[in-house]
Amino acid sequence: MKIEKNRVVQIHYTLKDDQGEILDSSIDHDPLPYIHGVGALIPGLEKELLGKVAGDKFTTVIAPADGYGVYDEDQVFQVSADGFEEDDELELGMQVQIDTENGPAVGTVTEIEGEEVTIDLNHPLAGVSLHFDVEIVEVRAATKQELDHGHVHSGGAHHH
Ligand code: ZN
Repeated sequence: MKIEKNRVVQIHYTLKDDQGEILDSSIDHDPLPYIHGVGALIPGLEKELLGKVAGDKFTTVIAPADGYGVYDEDQVFQVSADGFEEDDELELGMQVQIDTENGPAVGTVTEIEGEEVTIDLNHPLAGVSLHFDVEIVEVRAATKQELDHGHVHSGGAHHH
């Protein structure tokens, strides 16, 4: 059975950056299950998976625009440390929520200088070319209930 819209697919994958450093991997875990064509994976990876069958393996490099987005300097904000709860110890790399003109958003603390804190709202993998090693483990039709819910029910069990 080929991968197409509304198929339940299980993949093993390893994700590396341009330097070959492993950012994420399903190896040593269960394969990742997802429903194809409903926006569960980044667009560039779904494009590569389309039409493949169980047992296929491939390697691909996905540009930032088809991955987690290009890096946007306008998504970097300087805020005052006063705006945070006093018992919140701010640390580099920490995820924090700030208010923007578009509402609350979660970003990463990338710099702390005295009272001035730099918060980066870009996805941590924005601007990164994604090197994927992928193996397709299983392809099956999604059940009606899975499509209604928009997620995979493993082993026929219904859990949330
Ligand atoms: Zn469900």
